[in-house]
Amino acid sequence: MSTRVARLYGKQNLKVETQEFQPPGPGQVLLRMAAGGICGSDLHYYQDGGFGPIQVREPIISGHEASGYIEALGEGVSHLTVGSLVAVNPSQPCGKCHYCQIGQPIHCLDMRFMGSAMRLPHEQGMFRDWLVVEAKQCLAFGGETTPGEAACAEPLAVCLHAVAQAGDLEDKRVLVTGAGPIGLLTVAVAKHAGAAEIVVTDIADAALARAPSMGADRTVNVLTDQDGLTPYQANKGVFDVVFDCSAAGPALRSAFAVVKPRGTIVQVGVTGDMTIPLNALVGKEIVWRGSQRFDQEFAQSAALISARAIDVRPIISHAFPLQDAVAAFEQAGDRSVACKVQITFG
Ligand code: ZN
Repeated sequence: MSTRVARLYGKQNLKVETQEFQPPGPGQVLLRMAAGGICGSDLHYYQDGGFGPIQVREPIISGHEASGYIEALGEGVSHLTVGSLVAVNPSQPCGKCHYCQIGQPIHCLDMRFMGSAMRLPHEQGMFRDWLVVEAKQCLAFGGETTPGEAACAEPLAVCLHAVAQAGDLEDKRVLVTGAGPIGLLTVAVAKHAGAAEIVVTDIADAALARAPSMGADRTVNVLTDQDGLTPYQANKGVFDVVFDCSAAGPALRSAFAVVKPRGTIVQVGVTGDMTIPLNALVGKEIVWRGSQRFDQEFAQSAALISARAIDVRPIISHAFPLQDAVAAFEQAGDRSVACKVQITFG
């Protein structure tokens, strides 16, 4: 059997090609892929050939957030049903190393994460018509869920993990810097967690325009309204928790100014080295906490989407068929209009 794949050869060199694949083995399933979202890392690979130390060093099939329908079950698979819509968890910790043994699979020493160029050979991704994958990586959805929503399970899991780093958000004042897909899904999770007030910043009006539908109470364009956050510096800062989803220097530095003493900044966005106001970190006894990927949150994410307890649909801005994958990546790079750009298959 053969499948089309979207394979990245390097900076701005993405091709839709055909390759052979084997039927599912024991413990595996065959998926007819339905939708896949372009993530920031996919986009960095496409636009720049990588980011920081993670560079595309050999051809890689893009994509790590995708959904599909179960077409066939391999031997011994009984908990999934042919025809079901599932999302694929791209995370495959080894289960054997020190961190897996102590219950921290996120920090696995031998992590295989689909669509990631971190290790060599690269782990191949999900932008393809047909995919054979381990059944244990598949989470099933209810009847109402669209493939596009199911494909948001991975980024929503990232945000569930980020919000879990902040402790109880009930009645808390929350700032989210960066209104891309991760920022907006973080808004939705914070809302779901009972935050009393959620303010969102960005430098693109189109991004901010989607924030109210995800649960934001107020948006501030910090490019056109540079004093927009100043009132929040009152009394050494008013926010209990800031989620930095921008990884932009000015946004992060402003977070240190508006978080309250002993407040928490959760670092979700990632970039290279950056300067931060250490005096504020120390003087206000701020907790600045990193958050990477997810673990058991993937199942929570699938359940929340399946029940539409969190409605992810407002972040999905575009869908392109696989043959137009290059156009999809170009669209994803234009934040003046795009949020979550998805590729559809079949
Ligand atoms: Zn491990």
